[in-house]
Amino acid sequence: MQLKDSSLFRQQAYIDGAWVDADSGLTLKVNNPATGELIGSVPKMGAVETRRAIEAAERALPAWRALTAKDRANRLRRWFELMMQNQEDLARLMTLEQGKPLVESRGEIAYAASFLEWFGEEAKRVYGDMIPGHQADKRLMVIKQPIGVTAAITPWNFPSAMITRKAGPALAAGCTMVLKPASQTPYSALALAELAERAGIPKGVLSVVTGSAGEVGGELTSNPIVRKLTFTGSTEIGRQLMAECAKDIKKVSLELGGNAPFIVFDDADLDAAVEGALVSKYRNNGQTCVCANRLYVQDGVYDAFVDKLKAAVAKLNIGNGLDDGITTGPLIDAKAVAKVQEHIEDAVSKGARVVSGGKPHALGGTFFEPTILVDVPKEAAVAKEETFGPLAPLFRFRDEDEVIAFSNDTEYGLAAYFYARDMGRVFRVAEALEYGIVGINTGIISNEVAPFGGVKASGLGREGSKYGIDDYLEIKYLCIGV
Ligand code: ADP
Repeated sequence: MQLKDSSLFRQQAYIDGAWVDADSGLTLKVNNPATGELIGSVPKMGAVETRRAIEAAERALPAWRALTAKDRANRLRRWFELMMQNQEDLARLMTLEQGKPLVESRGEIAYAASFLEWFGEEAKRVYGDMIPGHQADKRLMVIKQPIGVTAAITPWNFPSAMITRKAGPALAAGCTMVLKPASQTPYSALALAELAERAGIPKGVLSVVTGSAGEVGGELTSNPIVRKLTFTGSTEIGRQLMAECAKDIKKVSLELGGNAPFIVFDDADLDAAVEGALVSKYRNNGQTCVCANRLYVQDGVYDAFVDKLKAAVAKLNIGNGLDDGITTGPLIDAKAVAKVQEHIEDAVSKGARVVSGGKPHALGGTFFEPTILVDVPKEAAVAKEETFGPLAPLFRFRDEDEVIAFSNDTEYGLAAYFYARDMGRVFRVAEALEYGIVGINTGIISNEVAPFGGVKASGLGREGSKYGIDDYLEIKYLCIGV
């Protein structure tokens, strides 16, 4: 492993301020998805080690929440700076375990770090309220307090950002946290723990437990000390975790699957729409929950859009993300490849045509050709299900009402995108789309200052922005007789 600072590559879990192995001595192997090579291993922990981390978080809570917000903010700021100082090493680690091109990994590290900076600043702005009394001898006051011990379960597609987007607001608010990272990408999480320690985050405030999803997750949802669970991942697992949390009425924040429509109207700037579609669809090889999943293009510009998108996709450079000039890495695993193939086969069997790609890439492994399908019928599975891969299915539509109906006909409601110039249309469509996020004339919508989250089966709560810290705060009302 060529890192400037080799101590960022940690192969042990981090619990209560110590680097530890599983009680059983068992480990999980971590492989590079671009080469299949073994990177290393991490402890395969279960309920017992998780309980230890939760109890450490409970012990650490009183002192952590008693710090001034400014003190917590200073440590988060330091953690942010350490991430940026180690951006190159963190990016290399990420590309090794996740596969995304180095340029995207560097971008993710900056994006991930920004949540620590932002929420440290927000920590100082957790204001309460004075409410005009309902009786002459009463004064009513509202204060906000940290929820307490929290748990986080994060996915492999954004191995750093999905952690800081949760740990940033949690720690800023005065909560402590036990984190289970995805088993495919534990090294990014463990490197963050190493930097948190260097930044002065006290032991027990943030523990990282690697291991069995079911066992670690089961303890996180069933242990009554944990007051809140925050999860990013599939709707299926989110639903299960929410049900498990129902027993203790734990609070939950869920950032789940999406099925983003990307709509191009006749009055769109077509070149801008193609550029937006390219980044929205093929970034991280289609493996983000806000990736365009289905592209709806209006009749009048359909053929021109297809030609331009084909030309843009032909310029993508597929390969090992560590190599220069690569724009597109491998998919995370064989299951991800199978899902893309399934969606292509289903759409083709119902009348769609492949105009770019369509099959595994000559590089082998889990590399897949960036694919475009045209004339996709609305009955295709890809109209309803999330692909999470480099497949752009193009549907044709006639008018606004029709495309809004298509777009909303899904259980999901995370991100939607559309390109249009007519002012009235922009407002009508933006308001009619049942989504938490709408990108208008842009394919990139994520940043730390804006609220990220979905409606319907895409989740609960918002991450980032001034709203993101609310998910880690309780409101307490004080009724004072005078
Ligand atoms: P993805 O499709 O992105 O892999 P998952 O929902 O399967 O989404 O995984 C997201 C995270 O949830 C990962 O950290 C994974 O290990 C974890 N996870 C998967 N199954 C469970 C489970 N039964 N209990 C708790 N966590 C789980």
